[in-house]
Amino acid sequence: MTKTAPRLKQAIAVATAAHEGQLRKTGEPYITHPLAVVKILQEWNMDEDTIIAGVLHDTVEDTSLTLKDIEEQFGKDVAFLVNGVTKLGKARSGMKDLDEYLPQTGDNLLKLLIATGQDIRVLIIKLADRLHNLRTLGALPPEKQKKIARESLEVFAPLADRLQMGRTRVEIEETSFKYVDPRRYEELKKLTAERLKKADKKLKSAQEAVEQALKREHIKYKCDGRVKSIYSLHKKLAKYDQNIDRIYDIIALRFIVEDTTTCYLVLGIIHSLFHPMDGRVKDYIAMPKQNGYQSLHTTVITNDKQIVEFQIRTKEMHEYAERGLAATFFYNEQKLTSAYTEGRVSKLPSNLLWIRDLQESAAKLASGEKVDTEKLKLNLFADKIFVYTPKGDIIDLPKGSMPLDFAYRLHSEIGAQCTGAIVNGKMVDLKTKLKQGDVVEIITTKNSKPNPGWLDKVFSRHARSKLRGQLHAILPDFSVAKSTDKKSAHKTKAKKPTSRKK
Ligand code: MN
Repeated sequence: MTKTAPRLKQAIAVATAAHEGQLRKTGEPYITHPLAVVKILQEWNMDEDTIIAGVLHDTVEDTSLTLKDIEEQFGKDVAFLVNGVTKLGKARSGMKDLDEYLPQTGDNLLKLLIATGQDIRVLIIKLADRLHNLRTLGALPPEKQKKIARESLEVFAPLADRLQMGRTRVEIEETSFKYVDPRRYEELKKLTAERLKKADKKLKSAQEAVEQALKREHIKYKCDGRVKSIYSLHKKLAKYDQNIDRIYDIIALRFIVEDTTTCYLVLGIIHSLFHPMDGRVKDYIAMPKQNGYQSLHTTVITNDKQIVEFQIRTKEMHEYAERGLAATFFYNEQKLTSAYTEGRVSKLPSNLLWIRDLQESAAKLASGEKVDTEKLKLNLFADKIFVYTPKGDIIDLPKGSMPLDFAYRLHSEIGAQCTGAIVNGKMVDLKTKLKQGDVVEIITTKNSKPNPGWLDKVFSRHARSKLRGQLHAILPDFSVAKSTDKKSAHKTKAKKPTSRKK
């Protein structure tokens, strides 16, 4: 443990005094929360300003301390970060009222991007904040637990993934999933354990065979087994008709070696020992995943007829996959750029360029310059679109959403009574896919009711489940129709009568 820096000590004293008398839902003094956030930020090797902002992150919102106080005592940067985290909290809670906190740019999405992205460290503090809140979620009422857990799965796990913080992503996913669907979680945990037990012996013999070969070639390596996380197994099972026998990477053997050339050598050795499965060799070293993940994967059939996945990577690749660039040098643009130009990283994973773009654009906007907003929109929430209400409130929806998704998102009654939609001033069919930036208005007619044909006109899980509930209530025999209600049903394009009511 290093000695606590005087500035940090001072920040802890200030925050402790400010939160004096406040308690968390766990019953502990409130200050335990910011202190835990600090610990996480330290584990992520963040710079001092970020850590100090972590200590103070809830003071402006929840105590009498002001931004001015913070700026006077800890400087502009810390105040800027605390302000960013405060704004981000507001932006997340409904994404409304952004005007109040952000300069007029005329573009709500940009406002949000500025709120979240002007300095990547804001997002990282928020991530640490959320991680600790998840770790202590047990103290909250069940309703709130589910809401926070769901939001964590939807927003914060993808964020961690984009920052390439694999370990954090997995922790967020596993913790959240336990609250969102406890039964499924336990079920899959048991299933994984059974598989593991069954495969253990055969796995060991495969591992030994590879290890012997590597020793013969004098290759230095580290080997460990990795068990697929419960949440990613859950997601994968959904893709494979719940057939666990089709999932080959529940257990994988991971070899970590010195350099890239050795990775390929080890792959060759494994293939000379066991038969590789067709189409299951993946070179994520030459072609990194979208988030920059690098590794070689191969699935082989061992001599005992066991299917085993191997993952081969260097120490650096492993470190990146687990901790992300944020862990090493990625906390501000300057450091990012210098690490890049000084050749400490050979190439920036292309997925991470969005952060730099975002920071650059936000800086330009702040100084009144024009930016290419299209480019900005691409990255931060790649699987989401943002659309507007006629009043200009931002609503975020999964990509693929249609007007009814929007309607149900506003209110389930608005959904139920929807009789039409106007997008960007034009009346549209309810099957129209919404696009980024659309202004959507829903026409409702009192006493109008949803019909089963709508199941083809909703995309989001949220709208689907609301609609289902309503259909159930008005159509007693609705459960019969349930079996055809699958996303894949979208492919069969049977012409249905339009649903518009007279
Ligand atoms: Mn907090």
